[in-house]
Amino acid sequence: MSKHSDVIVIGGGINGVSIAFHLAKQNQKVTLLEKDFIAGGPTGLSSAVIRQHYSNPVTIRMAYQSLGVWRNFADVIGGDPDFTRAGFMVGVGPTDLDGLKANIELQKAEGVNTRFVPLEEIPELEPHVDTTGLGGAAYEPDSGYCDPAAAANGFAKAARALGVEISTGVKANGFKIKGDKILGVETDQGTLPTGAVVVACGPWTPILLNTIGIELPMISARVKTVLYRLPDDHEQHHVWADFCNQVYFRPETGNLMLVGSISPQEAEDQVIDPDNFKETVGLDFVAEFAEQVVKRVPAMKRSHLANSFAALYDITPDWHPVLDAVPGFASLFVCAGSSGHGFKLAPAVGAMMARLVLSGKNPQDDINVFSFDRFDRGDFVRGQYEYSILG
Ligand SMILES: Cc1cc2nc3c(=O)[nH]c(=O)nc-3n(C[C@H](O)[C@H](O)[C@H](O)COP(=O)(O)OP(=O)(O)OC[C@H]3O[C@@H](n4cnc5c(N)ncnc54)[C@H](O)[C@@H]3O)c2cc1C
Repeated sequence: MSKHSDVIVIGGGINGVSIAFHLAKQNQKVTLLEKDFIAGGPTGLSSAVIRQHYSNPVTIRMAYQSLGVWRNFADVIGGDPDFTRAGFMVGVGPTDLDGLKANIELQKAEGVNTRFVPLEEIPELEPHVDTTGLGGAAYEPDSGYCDPAAAANGFAKAARALGVEISTGVKANGFKIKGDKILGVETDQGTLPTGAVVVACGPWTPILLNTIGIELPMISARVKTVLYRLPDDHEQHHVWADFCNQVYFRPETGNLMLVGSISPQEAEDQVIDPDNFKETVGLDFVAEFAEQVVKRVPAMKRSHLANSFAALYDITPDWHPVLDAVPGFASLFVCAGSSGHGFKLAPAVGAMMARLVLSGKNPQDDINVFSFDRFDRGDFVRGQYEYSILG
């Protein structure tokens, strides 16, 4: 545990393990610290929807590159993230149709396999949806979802095979610094010397950075997920983002439907201490969610509750992550704040962070839009045609 590492990655969520893997591929001696277990934080509770529908060329590119990894995980990483190619549909009301079509064109320009589905054709693709309120939909046949814990553990296993030391049950408490240099990470099991550190602690990231006086503009918010048992005669469906009713839903193993929110109100239930928040979901909310789903999938009237839980989004002012060096410090980096859409992007983020750590800033790299100081400059990452928090 006291050996010198080239890089210490703190956090064993999907981003931490991807970063560690990509650094190790570049022959770095890497240690990954995780206070609990791999995917023990929000990653393990992620809906892990893999879609490419973004409204910004940078995030579209990241999602598209990452999809290639999810689809070919066994060959390019190793292991099985249980990627299910269910197909993904985005349904919007008539007033958002122009934006939707423009987004589809943006995606096509980046190589994404997607198309517009006129209202009258939606029932051919998805016979059991009620199209009331919709103006049309976008369809991505190649998208789907993963098992998030399997994916994170797949990356971790591949990282280990490349020599990464993965220390679970080890909590980072702070940093050993000299001037602007990071000399080591202070943990509950002693100080570990290192040449560089990447903090990828999700909602805990601001707490750790605060120990050296760094303020990361990021909040944590409690978000709810509900699993409903599908009626026996109801077939599994595509993954849907339904902007009219502000919910997304996808199939889940065990003949279930997993439902979450795409409302920006998700940011309102703020949590101060990520180790202490209400993890259960009230029945009033379960009923409210069900009402929204039944509007789109009437057969769900006959469903019943299977499970529910709350988890945390780490949200920056523009709902996009900070992927950057920490201002004022040499060799200290941060990867946090990907809110409710960071799972799918993790393969691309791991590669981008490894490039940043090893080569410094390259003005051509897409990572530059995720800079630490962009909020101060008012240079937010914005979609060109936005209708909600999909980015
Ligand atoms: C309910 C929910 C649904 C989501 N659905 C989707 C989706 O459908 N598609 C999608 O793309 N994204 C989705 N997301 C977002 C995605 O899951 C997250 O962006 C992603 O998992 C974040 O991964 P991470 O590695 O950055 O952080 P985390 O998963 O937060 O991992 C951080 C890790 O750091 C560890 N840690 C913290 N502090 C310390 C410390 N001091 N020392 C050591 N270890 C520490 C924690 O234990 C934790 O394991 C969803 C998120 C949630 C919560």
